[in-house]
Amino acid sequence: MVDATQPMFKRLALIGIGLIGSSICHAARRHGGLVGEIVGSSATAKTRETALKLGLVDHVYATAAEAVRGADLVILCTPVGVCGRIAKEIGLHLEAGAIVSDVGSVKASIVADMGPHLPASVNFVPGHPIAGTERSGPESGFAELFDSRWCILTPPEGTSSAATDKLALFWGALGSNVEVMTPEHHDLVLAITSHLPHLIAFNIVNTAEHLQRVTDSEVIKFSAGGFRDFTRIAASDPTMWRDVFLNNKDAVLHMLMRFGEGISALKIAIEAGDGDTLYRLFDKARVIRRDIVDAGQDTASPDFGRAPSRKVEKQG
Ligand code: NAP
Repeated sequence: MVDATQPMFKRLALIGIGLIGSSICHAARRHGGLVGEIVGSSATAKTRETALKLGLVDHVYATAAEAVRGADLVILCTPVGVCGRIAKEIGLHLEAGAIVSDVGSVKASIVADMGPHLPASVNFVPGHPIAGTERSGPESGFAELFDSRWCILTPPEGTSSAATDKLALFWGALGSNVEVMTPEHHDLVLAITSHLPHLIAFNIVNTAEHLQRVTDSEVIKFSAGGFRDFTRIAASDPTMWRDVFLNNKDAVLHMLMRFGEGISALKIAIEAGDGDTLYRLFDKARVIRRDIVDAGQDTASPDFGRAPSRKVEKQG
């Protein structure tokens, strides 16, 4: 039962105050009454200063161990690769009964890395908001980031369902729709919906760099032909994405193999001048785009919802 006179959590501790951490601060404050106080930690003095200046947190600490004391909800908002080390650092300082979660883009490795360091007295409910931008740091967050976006929770076997339900309510209050699944299933789904697209974007943008018959200025000038949307994705934080690929290796390699098969089929059709096959494959892809718009996960506006630019550029 939720007591409407009390905040859902008396003290929320965010370990890491970048895009996701600061967006949680904004969204929690927008809701009012959801959390009593918000504290954060960052090893970087500038991040701590900015977090206080922007009013993201009520208190900020240089270490995670200090931040989690007395917190009934702790969320790690750091790159995936450091979550195990942080769990080890905070393990002894956690309050009994606290919910410990994270926002990492990979889940099975988080369970394996963090789980062993957390005491049995806390509830471990890993999470992943499927919402983000290519920006980083405490100034990049905003309250609407999670609105109508999915947040996936991946409680390990044996986790109290009351804790999972409470965290689901919290993310619902931040604006998200919530779904619960196993960490392994999460990693497989995200390998195709997020990780592979990022890998492709990084590679397409880097491929342009090696072209000899197209100048750099032409790549930039005519980027509206499709390239520019890949550059947005490829501008994402390299540390975060390095950790994603190091920690979701099997699922990404599986999707990459499937992707390679698809590219080979397209190459054969192009070589053979097989227009029917190309049309059929492109038409199939269009239907998926329509389904995404129908599911409310993007707008149907042309040009990916961008405001029309002054010059009308023909796409393609
Ligand atoms: P971000 O803006 O770069 O912020 C990362 C935060 O982690 C910063 O506060 C940084 O601290 C801290 N950090 C970095 N390295 C650290 C280390 N070695 N030890 C301790 N703290 C460290 O990143 P973000 O976009 O918020 O991503 C955070 C997490 O959210 C990642 O696990 C990512 O997979 C996940 N996620 C990201 C997105 C997205 O689109 N960006 C979407 C969903 C989930 P300093 O300020 O001290 O550098």
